[in-house]
Amino acid sequence: MSKIVRVAAIAAACTVSLALHSAIAADTSEPLSKSYRVTRAKDVEFQKYPSAKVFDNLYYVGPGYVSVWLLTTPQGDVLFDTAQEPYVDWVMDNIKKYASLRDIKYIALSHGHLDHFGGASKIQAASGARVVAVDEDWKMIEQVGSKPGANGAAPPAVPKRDMVVKEGDTLDLGGQHLIFHTTPGHTPGVLTTEGIVVYDNGTPHKAILWGGGGYRGGLKEAEQSVTSAAKIAAIKGVEVNLQIHSWAEPVGYPGGGVNERILTLKNRKPGEPHPMVDPVTWNAWVERAQEQAVKDVEKEKAKAAAK
Ligand SMILES: [Zn+2]
Repeated sequence: MSKIVRVAAIAAACTVSLALHSAIAADTSEPLSKSYRVTRAKDVEFQKYPSAKVFDNLYYVGPGYVSVWLLTTPQGDVLFDTAQEPYVDWVMDNIKKYASLRDIKYIALSHGHLDHFGGASKIQAASGARVVAVDEDWKMIEQVGSKPGANGAAPPAVPKRDMVVKEGDTLDLGGQHLIFHTTPGHTPGVLTTEGIVVYDNGTPHKAILWGGGGYRGGLKEAEQSVTSAAKIAAIKGVEVNLQIHSWAEPVGYPGGGVNERILTLKNRKPGEPHPMVDPVTWNAWVERAQEQAVKDVEKEKAKAAAK
């Protein structure tokens, strides 16, 4: 049995996989989150990152390269993103370890890229949840669903336009007061969720899910990113960053992304801080994003002037 297959088989079977994943990271002398997002992005068995209870009311149920977060409340649950095929059944099996699929009331989509919304229609069918996205991202989702998939395959299954949220809309559910923001740049929509409260052995912490930073070219997109990063920076008191991807180019999230941080939870001793509660890194990260967005605008302007 090859090493990859053997590790994956063990990963599927038991929680000892945590140490093995660390061993893989050491083997390849790169951060684990980079292996997931870049180097081994297509390695399906490797991608089956061990699901985890991260806070009293928050679970990581996604593969390694793209996050899927389950927030539970006494009045029903919210799933943030869905991953895509071939992981969707596996994601649903992960959810079932912690909650009933029927308890999912909302599926909030960070933005209109398939790696985030690709499982939404299947999970919606299994749960009856409402699917939530920004208008501009719904348009992207509809487009993806109308065109052939990779290598001429049938169009991927996409959710039908359901709940459309706008800047400042709120959602109250089981003690959570979620505030939605549109933070375009990465796509024309991008849904950021503020106000998520996660509990660490009963102690509340303020979490955020930034629905996608980093523009992908274009002056307008770069300018949108400046505005969006400023909007994010104006949200004060954030302690927990629920990353939608654990790795961000070029050097990753300082101190490790969610892939690394969640694994350290297993060895946490009583009284030690929670590895995901890290406001200092979050604030530095947002500042860096703001600086980068300004540089991107300059770059796009120089490009336009050179034409
Ligand atoms: Zn994206």
